[in-house]
Amino acid sequence: PVGSPAANSGRSRLRQRAADDSDFKRISVLGIGRFGRVVLTKHRNTGKLYALKLIGCSKLTVRKHLERTQTERDVLCRVEHRHIVKLYFAYRTETQFALVFEYCPGGELFYHLCKRRSLPSESVAFYVAELALALDCAHSHSVVYRDVKPENCLLDARGHLKLVDFGLSKAGISERYQGAHSICGTLEYMAPDVIAKKPY
Ligand code: ADP
Ligand code: MG
Repeated sequence: PVGSPAANSGRSRLRQRAADDSDFKRISVLGIGRFGRVVLTKHRNTGKLYALKLIGCSKLTVRKHLERTQTERDVLCRVEHRHIVKLYFAYRTETQFALVFEYCPGGELFYHLCKRRSLPSESVAFYVAELALALDCAHSHSVVYRDVKPENCLLDARGHLKLVDFGLSKAGISERYQGAHSICGTLEYMAPDVIAKKPY
């Protein structure tokens, strides 16, 4: 590999061995994000399925996109929780950054909401509880997430929620109302205090 950035960071299983493109066989596109694609891939040696998030790193790539990838990698190397998607490997080719995540075959909560139009209140309570546990874990690591929305809540094979997409998160926030001021998130879901430019 040209580089395997996560190999140098905190998470032990990332340190154990690096990965590169030749380890994975690409199967299909799972999602098109704002900055790249997420592809279902199979690890050639183990046969295990992963979700491979690819972000271009050519000269044309906007610096912000690269920073988001770096943030996502750095945060997920430190923050582990059963309701936060696991990052297994991170590597870089000449043209792309790649983050290799556990595969969540249940799809987006957004998809299920659209399909059924509404969810029973018991299901809502279940997903909100699992989301709250994930956010609480992030907060305990001084990380604010900043992009809660049903598109970023995936379901695993057993129907449990996994929070994905930590590109907009911010680390190092230890004071309740200090440190995070930027207006960011997804417009449709932004909290009123963010839009009103209040500290959050
Ligand atoms: P973006 O920053 O571009 O929004 P995301 O990390 O949210 O990127 O990924 C975009 C989409 O790809 C998700 O909304 C989801 O549909 C799919 N996806 C992302 N991660 C996974 C995963 N681990 N398993 C299955 N699908 C995924
Ligand atoms: Mg997303």
